[in-house]
Amino acid sequence: MDSQKNNILEAPFVREMIEVTQNMWRNGWDERNGGNVSYLLAEEEVTHYLDPSQVIRSIPLDFPVQPLANRYFIVTGSGKYFKNVAKDPANTLAIIKVAKDGRSVDLLWGLSDGGKPTSELPSHFMSHIARLDQDNNHRVIIHTHTTHVIAMTFVHDLSPKAFTKTLWQMCTECVVVFPEGVALLPWMVPGTDLIGTETAKQMEKHRLVVWPHHGIFGAGESIDDAFGLIETAEKAAEVYMLVASHQSGIKQTITDQQLIELAEAFEVTPNPNYM
Ligand code: 13P
Ligand code: ZN
Repeated sequence: MDSQKNNILEAPFVREMIEVTQNMWRNGWDERNGGNVSYLLAEEEVTHYLDPSQVIRSIPLDFPVQPLANRYFIVTGSGKYFKNVAKDPANTLAIIKVAKDGRSVDLLWGLSDGGKPTSELPSHFMSHIARLDQDNNHRVIIHTHTTHVIAMTFVHDLSPKAFTKTLWQMCTECVVVFPEGVALLPWMVPGTDLIGTETAKQMEKHRLVVWPHHGIFGAGESIDDAFGLIETAEKAAEVYMLVASHQSGIKQTITDQQLIELAEAFEVTPNPNYM
């Protein structure tokens, strides 16, 4: 049976993982092993390439994710460098299936040196659960160390209202791309179940969650969608960091009235708590 399966390295979702990790690394967002990606796959997508009964090993989870039972994901491995994903996908990526009881994952492919899925799996899995509750088409969570968003968390007010408003004001398209605004957590230790539950709580109402002095989590219906969302917020943060430190200061910005006009023109509803 295995011999009739197609070559996993040609799977579109493997190609997309290679491409997005390369792009994030080239953007300078993912130094060393920074960043992680998880991508929900349909069973048919996986079985086209792999036999799910051929489990390489079972990896226990210390946080149960029963709502994701029997779901398949491709994820980045813990400690793997995005720089290296393209040249060694079978070692840096993993295809996993969540066990029936939600307490472990079966490794079906990847992590060839015996590694583990990303240490941020609690935040990814809990965010997937929160986003799937809101959007049946949701599929992707990306965590990355976006340089300017991180920089902005050192110099800007960290209230979600003030932070969102500034991002909306820095690029005309922002309010259209993320009308619900961004959420921010307090600084927390990464990789823990606690940061996972707090991130997921914010994912109920937002697709972008900023971790101050660390990075950002973005959710989307595809790799492009999640990446594009993060890219848009990062661009706005970059503009802010350019203008905020400018000698002459900010002399004009996108006004509230203009934000309202944009929302009307593009038929989006900006989060009323942030206006
Ligand atoms: P991993 O290498 O375990 O994915 O961790 C990277 C990271 O960015 C932690 O926040
Ligand atoms: Zn990180």
